[in-house]
Amino acid sequence: MTDDTDLRRAFLAACSRLAEATSFDVQCDEVGNMLGHLNRLIQFKGYEKRIAKEPSTPMARRVLVFRHKNEHDLVTPAAAGDAFPDTFTELSGVLEWVESDELLKDSRYERYKVVDIIGRPVIDTFAEAFEEVYALPKLPRAEPKPKTHLFRLIELEAGYPETRVIECVRCSWKSDPMLGLEDQAVPVCRSS
Ligand SMILES: [Zn+2]
Repeated sequence: MTDDTDLRRAFLAACSRLAEATSFDVQCDEVGNMLGHLNRLIQFKGYEKRIAKEPSTPMARRVLVFRHKNEHDLVTPAAAGDAFPDTFTELSGVLEWVESDELLKDSRYERYKVVDIIGRPVIDTFAEAFEEVYALPKLPRAEPKPKTHLFRLIELEAGYPETRVIECVRCSWKSDPMLGLEDQAVPVCRSS
């Protein structure tokens, strides 16, 4: 069973491969992997729907806007000297987030202030984004709703109205024909 420490290990391994890569193409591939790991971590924490409103993950939201976009439009190699990442990389020069037409059309671009990471080193911003989500508490999965009885009226002996009872079509519990319904304790439906 994968848990958040496994996901973090996989993410950090992708970060290392990015840092050690000797071509920007390989670095781009790892950016794709890192986006996948970040998304799996969000699912693991139970934040698929809530991440958009979660105040403690501004960086993760910005990075996620790049998901499902054309890989080659996400990032661009910047020449050495233009930007220095905090993380050591094998190649001089660094991948930076880049603004594309596709990105500018995305309504989240404004809302999440994605512009704040444009031109910043991918490796550093990504590490920050991942740690934000990693720090979130895991939300409990919603318990499945217990099934409720689905009653139908039947006659135990056809043609004898006094033998009418209610029966649950899910768990087959039947009322007692000898007692009024108000005098009977109806059990929990056993069908779930
Ligand atoms: Zn039932």
